[in-house]
Formats: sequence, C-alpha cells, structure tokens
Amino acid sequence: MAANKSKGQSSLALHKVIMVGSGGVGKSALTLQFMNISKSLAYDKKKYTANKKVEGILEFVEDYEPTKADSYRKKVVLDGEEVQIDILDTAGQEDYAAIRDNYFRSGEGFLLVFSITEHESFTATAEFREQILRVKAEEDKIPLLVVGNKSDLEERRQVPVEEARSKAEEWGVQYVETSAKTRANVDKVFFDLMREIRTKKMSENKDKNGKKSGKNKKSFKERCCLL
Ligand code: GDP
Ligand code: MG
Repeated sequence: MAANKSKGQSSLALHKVIMVGSGGVGKSALTLQFMNISKSLAYDKKKYTANKKVEGILEFVEDYEPTKADSYRKKVVLDGEEVQIDILDTAGQEDYAAIRDNYFRSGEGFLLVFSITEHESFTATAEFREQILRVKAEEDKIPLLVVGNKSDLEERRQVPVEEARSKAEEWGVQYVETSAKTRANVDKVFFDLMREIRTKKMSENKDKNGKKSGKNKKSFKERCCLL
C-alpha cells in the first residue's frame, strides 16, 4: 500500500548484524532459520553448502573482509517499513584479532549467542562483549542482545535462566532464549535487534541535524587531545 517508496534496493535502510559466540552454540543454525533455509539443509552442513545459492536466500553477498564467515542479505518488513538486513555469521577463524576486529567494526548490532547446554559458552560471552566494546569504543550504546540458544534442550540445561538474565541486566541489554530447532524466538531476536539499530540511527541523525557544529566540534577536539 504505502510501499511505493523505491524500486532500487539501495534506498532501503540497511541494518548490519553480526553473530558472535563460541563454536557450536547455533549461530549458523539461527541464521539459516531466519533466512528461511529449510531445516534439513540447515542441519546438514555439506548439503547446505552445495545448495545455499539456490535455496531461499534472496541475495548472497560476500563483500566483507576476506574470511570464511558467511554473510547474507535479505529484505524484510520491519514495523511496516521495508528494510534490508545483512547478517555476518562468524565462524571461529577469527583467532586473528585484526580480522575479528574488522568484523566487529563492520557491525551495527550484535547477537551474542551461547548455548544453554554449555556453561562455558555462556562464560565466553563476557569476553566477546569486551572485544565488541573495545572495537566500538567511540559509540555510546551498542545494539546487542544476549541469546541463550537450544532452549529445546531443557533437560540438558547448564545455564539457569536467572543467571543469564541477571548478567544481561548488568549489561543493560535484553536476554532472550531461542531454539533454532523449533524456531522459538528466532524472528524475535533479529527483529528486536533491528529495532535497536534503527532507534540508534534515528537518534544519531537527530543529533547531526540538531546541533551540527557544537557537538561535532567538541568530539573532534576531544579526539585531538589524545594526540
Ligand atoms: P555455530 O558453530 O555457532 O554456527 O553452531 P551451528 O549452527 O553449526 O550448530 C552446532 C550444532 O548444534 C549443530 O549440530 C546444530 O544442529 C545444533 N543446534 C544449533 N542450534 C540448535 C538448537 O536450537 N537446538 C538443538 N537441539 N540443536 C541445535
Ligand atoms: Mg557456524
């Protein structure tokens, strides 16, 4: 109805999301579910790799730094507005700090994923968060959600909900439990994150338009002091 805005995708807002977390927690499974790649493929990596270009992906992009991480782009409707989401699914070769930092720098929002069945993966989120904050040190509030995945495996739970929730509270972010298997809350975490990214961009634009010279000059000066 109200979508006669554009023909070209370039005029759509683009929100860049990075999947972060230990290996095996389900970052790829969540990404694939959100991209609507069929579950059988998502759970069979070899098959998935062979078929990823013909399955439900609207567009496959590889315009990040040279890496083995996968990146996906898709058009979605966010609260009535058509936008694009870019998802960078990191894959654990980020041992080189410089590569990892580049990933993090390119992101506008982060899903910090652990598995509720592996306490170590929860502990690791603190370290990942530190790395993100370090790379994004100039930014105020970084859009980020803590995601406890594999909620379908309740009987194997090692991370109590309360423990994860109170950590997220301490960090001032939302905690959500997901299951890439049952699809529980999968859309929610991506959409909530996009909302946070959008809110942040809007307030940054306001700042720019409102007090153009004043604020910018100050922060420029502040940066000069570092020298
Ligand atoms: P990544 O290394 O973080 O990308 O993890 P993967 O997406 O490759 O998932 C690791 C393993 O956990 C795979 O065998 C998945 O099938 C499985 N897995 C991922 N998410 C879930 C989930 O929500 N529930 C269950 N039961 N298994 C999952
Ligand atoms: Mg993966």
